[in-house]
Amino acid sequence: MSKGLEILTALKKEIKGLKIVEKRGSTFMRFISWLPPFLFFRKRFMEGYITTIGTTIYWPDRPEDFDGDETIKCLLHESVHAADSANPFFELSYLFPQILAVLSVSALSAIWVGVWGLIGLGFLIFLAPWPAPYRVHWEARACAYESLFNYINYGYVGGDWIDNKIEDMFISWDYYKMSWRFNKTRKLLLKYCIKAQGVEKPELILPAKSEVLNIIRK
Ligand SMILES: [Zn+2]
Repeated sequence: MSKGLEILTALKKEIKGLKIVEKRGSTFMRFISWLPPFLFFRKRFMEGYITTIGTTIYWPDRPEDFDGDETIKCLLHESVHAADSANPFFELSYLFPQILAVLSVSALSAIWVGVWGLIGLGFLIFLAPWPAPYRVHWEARACAYESLFNYINYGYVGGDWIDNKIEDMFISWDYYKMSWRFNKTRKLLLKYCIKAQGVEKPELILPAKSEVLNIIRK
C-alpha cells in the first residue's frame, strides 16, 4: 500500500465520516459550480480546487494511490478542515463576514417596508472582499499540518514555503482576499507552524494522531 493510502486509512479512523469523492462525479458539486460566484470560474472550481464540506473531501480526479508529497500534503490539509467541521461555528465563521450579505436577501422581499428594506440591502456591502479573520485561522491550522509534514520529512519550518502560501492563498483572490496584510499573516502562519512542529503532542492542536505521524515518519 502506498504511503498516501496508508495515511488516508489512518485518517479515516481518526476522523469519523471522512470520505473522498471525485468532484466530477458529484451532482452536488456540479450544482454548486453553476451558482454565483463559482459560475465565473466554473472550470477551475471543478478541475483545480479540492473542496471540503463537512467530512467529505471533493477531489478533482481522485488520485489512485494518493502518492507523492504534494498529494499527501493536500490530504493532510483537507483532513484538518474535515476535523474542524465538527465545530458548530466552523462553516459560518469560515464564510464570515461575506455570509452577512445573505441578510440582504430578506430585504429584497421586504423592500416595500421602506427604510428597513434599504437598511437590509445595505448588508450587500459584506459581499466585498473584506478580511476574513476566521477563514485565516482555519486555513492557517490546515497549512500547519502541511508544515508538520515538511518538518518531519525535510526538517524545516519553511520561510519561502510560508511566503508562497501567503501569496497563493491568504492574500490571493482564490480565497477572496481573506487577508490584506502580508507581514501580519506571515507572523501568524509562522506561529501556527512552529506550534504544530514544536509541541510534543501535535494532536493537542491538530488531528495529528500518532498513527498518521508514524506513517509520515516512515
Ligand atoms: Zn484549506
